[in-house]
Amino acid sequence: MFEALSDRLSGALEKLTGKGALTEADISTALREVRVALLEADVSLPVARGFIKRVEEAAQGRHVVKSVTPGQQVVKIVHDELVKVLAGEDEEPGRLRIDNPPATIMMVGLQGSGKTTTTAKLAKRLKEREGKRVLMASLDTRRPAAMEQLAVLGTQIGVDTLPIQPGQTAVQIAKRAKTQANLGGYDVVMLDTAGRLSIDDELMAEVEAVRDETRPRETLLVVDGLTGQDAVSTAENFDGRIGITGCVLTRMDGDGRGGAALSMRAVTGKPIKFVGLGEKMDALEEFHPERVAGRILG
Ligand code: GDP
Repeated sequence: MFEALSDRLSGALEKLTGKGALTEADISTALREVRVALLEADVSLPVARGFIKRVEEAAQGRHVVKSVTPGQQVVKIVHDELVKVLAGEDEEPGRLRIDNPPATIMMVGLQGSGKTTTTAKLAKRLKEREGKRVLMASLDTRRPAAMEQLAVLGTQIGVDTLPIQPGQTAVQIAKRAKTQANLGGYDVVMLDTAGRLSIDDELMAEVEAVRDETRPRETLLVVDGLTGQDAVSTAENFDGRIGITGCVLTRMDGDGRGGAALSMRAVTGKPIKFVGLGEKMDALEEFHPERVAGRILG
């Protein structure tokens, strides 16, 4: 994960670390290279610009030019700022607000983003690591195959799914899931909402209705981490209309562009809670800003 960003950034910063005293011109040249590295890693332009500005301001504030080890100082500032942007404020990675059972987690996102897989991965994690009793329900009334897929995954990981009743609307299924959760003593209800190939009004209206009915504690947007800039606009759209509490970036086992993570965080201000690292049910990790920033800098 993030190798592409990492290689380019360390290349850009290597030139600085070897040098003694630096001029301001040295620093701005290096930061230009950092900017190129960010853009090549698919960080959006405004985010890259904003990030460089933060680093510049931090560098001025810390009198980098006058210091004895200016190269290392810039590297440290770039690292610190990366962590700050990626981490946001006072959030624990992978932490979900799911006390007061039954707590609803609503999973949203476009079709193919990995939403159903992530729903099951997260259910397994909550069951195994936190001892939660989880009930999953698919609200994808237009795609019976998606409902079946969740049921199959549920059996595989030993997590209950709400029995499928054809003919119900998404809101009716969500209501039934909550009733079932209350009656059955479940801690968490996970709602796998329907996805579409693109964002449309009908999809958003349906998700809004489910949200209003179930008042979820967490609304997690699942986005394909390989879609770069598109991931960012998807996040903006869902957050604007539904209001998300966090994101899960999938396919981070893929070609390793870390730019989406940085952009999503900067643009939506919402935390990246988890990353998907493969198709297997265990391939879900909490998002570690420190670790990621460390990798970015190599
Ligand atoms: P949905 O339409 O959003 O519900 O997407 P699915 O959950 O059906 O996932 C679509 C495909 O992506 C499936 O083949 C999944 O196994 C795969 N997938 C999901 N998450 C990941 C991930 O983190 N890494 C990789 N490599 N594949 C994933």
